[in-house]
Amino acid sequence: MPELPEVEVVRATLHKELAGLTITGIDCTYEPIIENINLFKEQVSNQTIVEIRRYAKYLIFILSNGAFISHLRMEGKYFYVDEAYPIQKHQHVVFHLSNGYKLIYQDVRKFGRIEYKSKKELYTTPPLSLLGIEANQKEYNLDELYTRIKKKSIPIKTLLLDQTFISGLGNIYVDEVLYDAHISPLRKSSSITKKQLEQILISSQSILNEAILQKGTTIRSYTSSLGVIGNYQNFLKVHTKRECPCCNKALTIIKIGGRTSYYCKACQR
Ligand SMILES: [Zn+2]
Repeated sequence: MPELPEVEVVRATLHKELAGLTITGIDCTYEPIIENINLFKEQVSNQTIVEIRRYAKYLIFILSNGAFISHLRMEGKYFYVDEAYPIQKHQHVVFHLSNGYKLIYQDVRKFGRIEYKSKKELYTTPPLSLLGIEANQKEYNLDELYTRIKKKSIPIKTLLLDQTFISGLGNIYVDEVLYDAHISPLRKSSSITKKQLEQILISSQSILNEAILQKGTTIRSYTSSLGVIGNYQNFLKVHTKRECPCCNKALTIIKIGGRTSYYCKACQR
């Protein structure tokens, strides 16, 4: 599943290719991917793509009038190709563009979603209105987050995966962040001190920003679309690893909230 850094890499690439182009038409062969498909076609056709933004793991296509949000979920990918390129299996949405190219949305698992929003409702309605601060956001209200975390008895890993608290961290990066912050993923959220919460946010920023520089993580089937291969898998310290890079003890691999988790019992408390 693409996480914040991988989505950011997709965003930057799409922005470079698409800003200034007009969407001349839309084809969709699997309608549930697009919310309210007929209205979507009406609202998006003949609009110019002004910029591509991102919030947490959502891509936001800002149009001359309105916007649409795209969440890649498990396997969603975009391809920017010449109109002559033949559509392949699993390529469900095609945006025809004013320069003779097309933007293809491919989704093997079909879990991704695309939804039109007016500019007014973009950040004030779900899904974006439900998201917490971004995990690599520089400014935040530590006291407010600390008050919220104090009320939660769920494991800190589960809390960090809940996008309404901090948004943009997925399974891979939560393991890395908690390792960096020396905190066990099983710790009750309410037992985390304010200083530890601050450390979690500092670790999140540095790990996500470094992962963005490395163009994300390429593991299992996911590679960012448009031919970008990430390198951050070479920098992972615990996720998918066997041994703690600090104390050399064997890592503990357990399921927390159904998600495979890697941590060091000696270094993370
Ligand atoms: Zn260790």
